[in-house]
Amino acid sequence: MNIQERDKNVIWHPFTQMKTAPLPIAIVKAEGTYFFDEQGKKYIDGISSWWVNIHGHCHPYLTKKISEQLQTLEHTLFSGFTHEPAVQLAEQLLTHLPSNQSKIFYSDNGSTAVEVALKMAFQYWSNQSVSKIKVIAFENGYHGDTFGGMSVGARNAFNLPFSKLLFDVIHIPVPLKGKEQSSLDALKKVLQNDDIASFIFEPLIQGAGGMVMYQATILDELIKECRIKNVITIADEVMTGFGRTGKFFASDYLEEKPDIICMSKGLTGGVIPLGATSCAQFIYDAFLSDDKMKTFFHGHSYTANPTSCAAALASLYLFDQPQTIENIKHIEQQHHLFLKKIKSHTALIDARQLGTIIAFEIKTNEQTHYLNSLADYISEFFISKGIILRPLGNIVYILPPYCISTEDLTYVYNAIEEFLNTITS
Ligand SMILES: *Cc1c(COP(=O)(O)O)cnc(C)c1O
Repeated sequence: MNIQERDKNVIWHPFTQMKTAPLPIAIVKAEGTYFFDEQGKKYIDGISSWWVNIHGHCHPYLTKKISEQLQTLEHTLFSGFTHEPAVQLAEQLLTHLPSNQSKIFYSDNGSTAVEVALKMAFQYWSNQSVSKIKVIAFENGYHGDTFGGMSVGARNAFNLPFSKLLFDVIHIPVPLKGKEQSSLDALKKVLQNDDIASFIFEPLIQGAGGMVMYQATILDELIKECRIKNVITIADEVMTGFGRTGKFFASDYLEEKPDIICMSKGLTGGVIPLGATSCAQFIYDAFLSDDKMKTFFHGHSYTANPTSCAAALASLYLFDQPQTIENIKHIEQQHHLFLKKIKSHTALIDARQLGTIIAFEIKTNEQTHYLNSLADYISEFFISKGIILRPLGNIVYILPPYCISTEDLTYVYNAIEEFLNTITS
């Protein structure tokens, strides 16, 4: 039996209806922008393996640095102990983060980075004996699959079985173009309540919600309102961090800097798991006390795993090379040209771009995005072309590793154009 067939006997896959799903593709090797399957077929990784990869697969420098760390100090507990990679990474992250950020709390994925942020915000108030227990979030958001993450995320088919178990969150409309005022009005109305602990958002682009984009200027206004009302602001930069939106963080487009920032995905270059939550000094200070009850009692077995931190340091080093910035600019320009060319295609409702992300919303008669029946057809079409693009329902998007060649990018654009032509003809 090959890997695909053995998989069926023993594995339960994420976001997958195991009864009807086709056999998964077994990947045996990766290099740069490419994957190779069991049969030797080559694929372009058009979505950076769920938005994590930034420098390409099996990058020799990352591999070398990780391997060196593994041979020196592979892992240690992090309560009462520390190590060079964790300290150095925190120092370097803080030089890249907005200047109001002053401490780094490590965890091991995006959902935990969000849980940490929410718990910090709740306990910030409880440590001061202030009863603020509600959270504001955008409709259509995604913040991970743990209970806290699901609570603040959009209430949809994915978390329906758990809906009664999720905590109280007030969802306000996304400030889409033309709808900025209604979003701001909704926020102002909610802020009249004095029990709001925090406001969490995906800055400038909602990823899993369908690559939905909005302007930095309106987010500035929303953050400003929260600040006036003493509500902690949390930017979930798990997807947007590390160059995705064209700047290092999406928060770099903002005048008003968030109080807490969540990172994961691109943090290690997409090689091994790591999460980090940064916060402003005033948040940290609210936990300093002679009273042990004010401690932040949160941690994970692999908190600040040295190997993960070494990967993140190596990834940051690569990021800071001029070539990486040029690559990001190049993708932005190419996306821009393709967007101009394709925007008025009759198969599209909308096409949009932010930094290295370009998304195409395809006309369909169905209402639901996620469970749209087009999705399987779209995936199969691109797989047959040797391109991995997993649509979000009827929304196809490209989010490539920054090292993708012009040739491969053009190949993907051409395949998208061909796909759009097949559904209109
Ligand atoms: C992916 C994602 C998460 C969850 O990260 P995981 O590592 O998958 O748990 C949280 N927030 C945003 C914005 C994401 O895109």
